[in-house]
Amino acid sequence: MTVTEPHADRPLRTKRPPHETRRTFAIISHPDAGKTTLTEKLLASSGAIQQAGMVRGRANTRATRSDWMEIEQQRGISITSSVMTFEHDGLTFNLLDTPGHSDFSEDTYRTLTAVDAAVMVIDVAKGIESQTLKLFEVCRLRDIPIITFANKVDREGKDPLEILDEIADTLALDVTPIVWPLGQGVDFKGTVDLVGGRVLHPDGTEWRRFSDPEELLSDAELNADPVVATSLENLELVRDGLPAFDLETYRAGHLTPVIFGSALKTISVAELLRALGQWAPDPRPQPAEPAPIDPADPKVTGFVFKVQANMDANHRDRIAFVRLASGTFRRGMKLRNVRSGKELAVSNPMFFFGHDRELAEEAVAGDIVGIPNHGTLSVGDTLVEGTQIIKVTGIPNFAPEIIRRVRLTDPIKAKQLGKALSDLAEEGVAQVFRRMIGADWIVGVVGQLQLEVLQARIAKEYNTPISFESINFELARWVACDDKLELKRFVDASKMEMAEDKDGDPVYLAQSSWWLGRAERDWPKIKFLSTKERA
Ligand code: GDP
Repeated sequence: MTVTEPHADRPLRTKRPPHETRRTFAIISHPDAGKTTLTEKLLASSGAIQQAGMVRGRANTRATRSDWMEIEQQRGISITSSVMTFEHDGLTFNLLDTPGHSDFSEDTYRTLTAVDAAVMVIDVAKGIESQTLKLFEVCRLRDIPIITFANKVDREGKDPLEILDEIADTLALDVTPIVWPLGQGVDFKGTVDLVGGRVLHPDGTEWRRFSDPEELLSDAELNADPVVATSLENLELVRDGLPAFDLETYRAGHLTPVIFGSALKTISVAELLRALGQWAPDPRPQPAEPAPIDPADPKVTGFVFKVQANMDANHRDRIAFVRLASGTFRRGMKLRNVRSGKELAVSNPMFFFGHDRELAEEAVAGDIVGIPNHGTLSVGDTLVEGTQIIKVTGIPNFAPEIIRRVRLTDPIKAKQLGKALSDLAEEGVAQVFRRMIGADWIVGVVGQLQLEVLQARIAKEYNTPISFESINFELARWVACDDKLELKRFVDASKMEMAEDKDGDPVYLAQSSWWLGRAERDWPKIKFLSTKERA
């Protein structure tokens, strides 16, 4: 492997269009791998905050401020996503936080539609875990390039060679180490930064410089320590056996550079920040109909990837999180919601730094702005300056994994229930279906916790107590067919199993995967889809 030069094609300080200085990314990981700690350290390393511990601190403040998040507080988990913006080395980094809890993966998936790059954090003792794998699959669907941070080298873990193999085999990705550990756990002796050409002590101070890593093998002082000697030999093996870093292959999502480090001990955090700055792509053309949106297009376009209600109990507002895809957005600008055709004057857009809202004056492609509204903006909406008809594509709905009938404790509140469910469906809290026969409300979620949040919010915000009942269905699939008549025949023949989603699209409910398999066999022309793009 040859050492890759920091990219000469992107000098950091020359004048370039502002969107090219944006790095919009998310961190994907399994709970406990160290995402929160790494976020804190990235912010601290960038100089954005002086003191680590603020991310967690902020989360606590938020929970006390916002009372519907009692569940969050009780469970000690973070349900809400937020956006953190920090500047470093002439670049603006937008870090979109995703909830780590697996019950909220739907929200996480949508957040991934708004990033250009991802950092995958894995615990070196555990390797690739289930949630990481799921999130990785979403990144792969969109070819999001991934930098891997193999965390917790200060603790005993799997051998670095094994970690690389595991990533390559499980994710079918090329891997190439960028920062290599010298020993692990109590025997951790430092790191080799292959890009910077430096060997570092555990405290980050420089131990050696090199122009070719091969030199290190004959360095008597380094090799005097058997742990270091073995790690250097392994590094040599890896360099012989693995491809060199290649920017294009990384950007295409086929190769992941791997940085071994420790978030807790601030090891390799600066190298991660450097990799993001130099390699992570600036905003890419946004998939859309009738044509992808060029980030350099002067007209503003953006899309809503998340809506959050009641971020602040004192303001019963909803914030739509909008990822800008092109143009320079200024406060006071009028944007048109392509779905409804309505124009809205955005007088009080916000940037987010953790929970603290900052008024935004100007934002460009890659930036996230929060737009307060009273229900006019839904997840998936495209916003444009002027009268263009453009629709951003690729924001998925996922087939729910838990399906329940909603039972109203007080039948008089049927109308409120309808309003509550349609509001919350629009916010993306749960999917809401109506049976074609009978008028039952059915909700579908991907995790149990989502049901609890739904119940708590409907009780509190709509003063409508509800409970959930099991129902004879386990799976839901959107159905589609190029042949409209065939689709109608299927729907008519399956009335008892059919429902409509909030957009009126047909959904087939199956009692089990066996029944679904049977329907697929009996109706070969019908497509049974587990994701649907948001209309
Ligand atoms: P998250 O659930 O992915 O956000 O994980 P956290 O950042 O909350 O970390 C989970 C636990 O792992 C916490 O107890 C952290 O202190 C610990 N942790 C995180 N990074 C490291 C690390 O580099 N080394 C060690 N030893 N512990 C770590």
